[in-house]
Amino acid sequence: MTEGRLIVLTGPSGVGKGTLLKHLCQRHPALRVSVSLTTRAPRPGEIPGQSYIFVSREEFQSAIAAGALLEWAEYAGNYYGTPRQPVVAALHQGQWVILEIEVVGARQIRQNFPQAQLVFICPPAWATLEQRLKQRGQDSETAIQKRLARAKDELQAAPEFDAQVVNDNLEQAIQELEIHLGLVSENNFPI
Ligand code: 5GP
Repeated sequence: MTEGRLIVLTGPSGVGKGTLLKHLCQRHPALRVSVSLTTRAPRPGEIPGQSYIFVSREEFQSAIAAGALLEWAEYAGNYYGTPRQPVVAALHQGQWVILEIEVVGARQIRQNFPQAQLVFICPPAWATLEQRLKQRGQDSETAIQKRLARAKDELQAAPEFDAQVVNDNLEQAIQELEIHLGLVSENNFPI
């Protein structure tokens, strides 16, 4: 069987990666989304096993030691990582797997999976990022400041990736993503 494709959406927190991913999967139900491990506490409304696999720091360290993560990073005081086995199994079955991760992890994927397609999502302006992080009301002021500090570095990394999509108009951003990822055929028929 032909190996599937590994797709990465990266970019700063608050840029709208999650929203883009949700819409992309609604339009292309064959896409498989990887569920990450995190040591961050669940936010209201997050479903364990679906939003994230919530683990202790000890459990996360054991996963690293066991080689069970495809990539991992520390972000704003917590660990995040992609479980290796489900992704590798889905790729072997010919499926298209999509990861939504920050930049340090995306670089690890770039290095270890040269055939992966990595798209960087940019905010239309710095002020938009700040506004989105504050408006979503999910994080404390300290957590927001940590994310903004990290975002400054992350934005510098945009040119490292295969494509850059500005998330200003949602519909337009989804269409650009579809084109970069080859998810539409020439006559615009959804794959
Ligand atoms: P949040 O706490 O807002 O859910 O996520 C914080 C950041 O971690 C976001 O940029 C998100 O894309 C990223 N992230 C989520 N899962 C993973 C993962 O498995 N690995 C890495 N490296 N980053 C992740």
